[in-house]
Amino acid sequence: MTLAVENLCAAYGEIEVLHGVNLKVEKGEIIALLGANGAGKSTTIKAIMGLVKPSAGRILLDGRDLTGQAAHLAARAGIALVPEGRKIFKKMTVEENLQVGGVVRSGAEVREQLADVYALFPRLGERRRQVGGTLSGGEQQMLAIGRALMSRPNFILMDEPSLGLAPLVVESVHQAIDRIRREMGIGGILVEQNVAVALTVAARYVMQALAEMGSAGGRGLAQPCRSPVTRQITSPTSSATRTEPSGPSVTPTGRP
Ligand code: ATP
Repeated sequence: MTLAVENLCAAYGEIEVLHGVNLKVEKGEIIALLGANGAGKSTTIKAIMGLVKPSAGRILLDGRDLTGQAAHLAARAGIALVPEGRKIFKKMTVEENLQVGGVVRSGAEVREQLADVYALFPRLGERRRQVGGTLSGGEQQMLAIGRALMSRPNFILMDEPSLGLAPLVVESVHQAIDRIRREMGIGGILVEQNVAVALTVAARYVMQALAEMGSAGGRGLAQPCRSPVTRQITSPTSSATRTEPSGPSVTPTGRP
């Protein structure tokens, strides 16, 4: 099963932030989406999840066109989001948070998936009746990942899951992501700013670069998304390929 993004463009009002993003991820594979602040990494995964409407391009799940569909349809199709900043329901218990994540699945599936999530994160099982807001930062991140897993996804989109966590906790989050891939066969896109951290779990990366400012309209007016040209660097294997020679100066880093 393949999740593919083809020539994806998106704008907030007048300002275009995605200028033809291309990426592909297979089930059972994690890729890292890297780039500077504001490069459009979150926008890319929000567009895949149906939370931002693309202005052009396509999102395909095994050839099925999901472009512009609502988020609950993306969830039913097998895509789940771990949002930036976790966004857990702080007044709800751990188990209630997880049940919300399973809302697109049947009762039997939710029970089965709860057991799998508690097996992956025993700490969540121990704290199932504790309210989310009293969990530590690392536990809240595990809950955010667990909640995404509750929809039984084929692909999981993770927006900076290590942000603000201590190095040891980051390591355990990444171990969990690796187990999700190996044991559950799930594919994923991991948004990260730290290249070294991302490549401890990701097999490949796509680097998104900052948008150029439009020349005619002044500051903030991006170039229209006319062509599938991407200011993007990909690493299909260890040798990185630059897809637009005239892009801004970002340095590809191969897998260590
Ligand atoms: P970061 O690493 O800082 O999270 P990012 O690569 O994920 O950045 P995005 O969050 O996708 O980048 O933002 C891309 C651009 O779009 C930024 O310039 C941002 O200010 C702008 N942007 C993001 N969300 C909105 C919004 N809801 N309305 C208007 N502009 C937005």
